Amino acid sequence: MKRYPCSGCSLLCDDIIIKSDGLFIDKVIGACLKGKERFDQVSAQNRITSPMIRKNNELINASWEEALAKTVEIIKNSSAPLLYGFSNVTCEAQRAGMDLAREINGFIDSNASICQSCEIYLWKKELYLKGEELFPQGINITTITEIINKVDLIILWGANPAETIPRLLNKVLFSRGKFRMTGREIKTLVIIDPVKTASFRVMGVRDLALIIEPDKDIELIQMLKEECCSADSIPSGGVAGIDKNDLKRLLLHLTGAENGVIILGQGVIQPHADYDFIEELLDLLQLINTRQVKGRISLLLLGGHFNMAGFDHVALSSYGVSGKLQFESKKLVKSEDTIISKINNENFDCSIIVGTDPISHLPHSLSSKLAKKPLILIDNHNSATSRLADVVLPTAITGIESSGLAYRIDQVPVELKKILNPPNNIPSDEELLNQLITKLNGGAK
Ligand code: SF4
Repeated sequence: MKRYPCSGCSLLCDDIIIKSDGLFIDKVIGACLKGKERFDQVSAQNRITSPMIRKNNELINASWEEALAKTVEIIKNSSAPLLYGFSNVTCEAQRAGMDLAREINGFIDSNASICQSCEIYLWKKELYLKGEELFPQGINITTITEIINKVDLIILWGANPAETIPRLLNKVLFSRGKFRMTGREIKTLVIIDPVKTASFRVMGVRDLALIIEPDKDIELIQMLKEECCSADSIPSGGVAGIDKNDLKRLLLHLTGAENGVIILGQGVIQPHADYDFIEELLDLLQLINTRQVKGRISLLLLGGHFNMAGFDHVALSSYGVSGKLQFESKKLVKSEDTIISKINNENFDCSIIVGTDPISHLPHSLSSKLAKKPLILIDNHNSATSRLADVVLPTAITGIESSGLAYRIDQVPVELKKILNPPNNIPSDEELLNQLITKLNGGAK
């Protein structure tokens, strides 16, 4: 029995005990159902273990040679390739993906730009103007360990970790930390959400459940900002569907906590045409943290895929920018495009999808456009995208059949380990992407 990290979600729990003889996984101890499912993927029915190519409108098994030749042919016939996904692969594979994008003058973006657009935004928002001078804005981020050890207030805002990151609340809410020996008893949970999600079930009597009207989060932030600045009373009718007394309690928690964290979910981070939710929230946090004498409030962004945070780290360390990258003449160029605008304007002529299922996840208006052009899929299981792909290249399951680095939800790097050999000696994502670069270069990398 050995301890391994789990790549089932971005929490990357590193306390999973695995019993394995190197051929099969016999026992998984300590993982949640989602994690258990991840380890079960090794022998799942929808597992892809052989390359496939489309012939006469049908996907058929092919040899690696045939499938790679077809992939190279599609890429060579393309002048505007689109590379997308990369949140379910290691940092090494993300780097190889960026190298491939540079090699073929493509546009590369990760799931984070759709699922967690604010993460990219926050990395970028390092400076803000105050009068004539530039001041570092940044954000107060925090780590899981710090939350366990110090936090006395947890606010879930548009976030439902009970279902998306199943062990997060176990770790941060029900744990006893170094400076929180009384554990759950001293931790207050506030949930702000328009729907009563599964996470509401862990609430106790001292916690605060705030059902907010849909799309009214900005009104709540603006009111909280005003209340922090002036002595004006909270509107008697409440704000955004939340009554006055609950708003008072929320304000008291925010300003009175010794150490608080706002866990922000995808429910609130989608860009909005009329206002900038993240900018307003950062302003509020700055206001509270400047006035708070005894503590601080920090932010944790919920991302689902196990290495969603890694893409930005790799892009920043390799190219000095975060998020999407557009290459021309094998150089990085500025681009206002996003993965959405690229697909929407049909500004691409083939796509290379890595470790994701955009045909299921994107709205039909976009997925239908994606499906119209040649599509190469690199993944380890069947999906709606694999059914429409022109070439499917299988890869090893990261964290089980291949190793590498991933960034946890709190930006902490975790080394994922290999437990088993993959079936049919299928390569890792990194190996496959590097192989493609070599093939495109006629044998030289
Ligand atoms: S919470 Fe996530 S990382 Fe932890 S065991 Fe469950 S799926 Fe795996």
